[in-house]
Amino acid sequence: GLLVVGDVVTDVVARHRGPLAPATDTPADIRTVPGGAGANAACWAAHSGCPDVRLLARVGRDSAAWHDLRLRRSGVRPLLIPDADAPTATVIALVDTATAERTFLTDSGAVHRMNPADWSPDLLDGIAHLHLSGYLLFADQSRQLALAARESARQAGVIVSLDPASTGFIGDLGVERFLAATEGVDVLLPNADEAAFLTGLPEPADAAAKLSRQFPLVAVTLGAAGALVATGGEVVAKVAAPKVVALDSTGAGDAFTGAFLAARLSGASPAEAATAGCRAGALAVGVVGGRPEVGGG
Ligand code: ADP
Repeated sequence: GLLVVGDVVTDVVARHRGPLAPATDTPADIRTVPGGAGANAACWAAHSGCPDVRLLARVGRDSAAWHDLRLRRSGVRPLLIPDADAPTATVIALVDTATAERTFLTDSGAVHRMNPADWSPDLLDGIAHLHLSGYLLFADQSRQLALAARESARQAGVIVSLDPASTGFIGDLGVERFLAATEGVDVLLPNADEAAFLTGLPEPADAAAKLSRQFPLVAVTLGAAGALVATGGEVVAKVAAPKVVALDSTGAGDAFTGAFLAARLSGASPAEAATAGCRAGALAVGVVGGRPEVGGG
């Protein structure tokens, strides 16, 4: 099985037309959808056929039951810890349909309250692969939890992957500290911006090659251009993305991650896994929201 340790987020998406003016009542189409990089990747892994996907995350008491239900419907076994003092992480996305410009307001909520007491090595019983959401690295106590999970995985011979979250968060932590905190990670799954930021190399192929000297396997996603795979200091595969009409790019990287990991767990080569990742990424840009379609509300 696959254990994802990461973030559950409530995404509130408000679509309005034209600039927002203060002190006016702007009509908008407002939808609340389940999200979070870790949770989305878990859903995409299950959607891609991974048989036993579990998700460990903290949520607020307010929406714990709703998130639990939505994850179960997507085929993920939720291991959710309701937090008494913080709400579920929430992102408000303001989308101007006239310009397609997006503005985000982010409250990390219960995500950054994950802590080493949430971890126990038995969580790895029956698990072959541990995936860590990079968002855990950016607060002290949640980073300690990620390090404890990685250490248990190392002792149990479980493969560890990590998605670096975002360049903004890496900048806040500092590249040196990020790379120190990710020591021992087997598979790194950055997008092109994160790969460039982590290495100082603007060319994705150069960045992928350099990262693969620290991480045994690196897959860098390139948006509509697909993905690159690097191992041992060299790019070993370049995969094209299917041509699609992009509707909403939210969760494309999480879809890639989920499908890539599902494929690796079923024995696929890194190049085959990247091909599966690109197929899922292309599906994700064709739906609104960050998760595969499962029907129902
Ligand atoms: P992130 O969402 O983390 O920034 P990317 O934008 O690189 O990640 O997208 C992840 C994957 O999703 C890509 O590797 C690609 O396979 C797919 N993808 C993203 N945008 C498109 C697009 N416009 N057309 C087809 N596939 C896409």
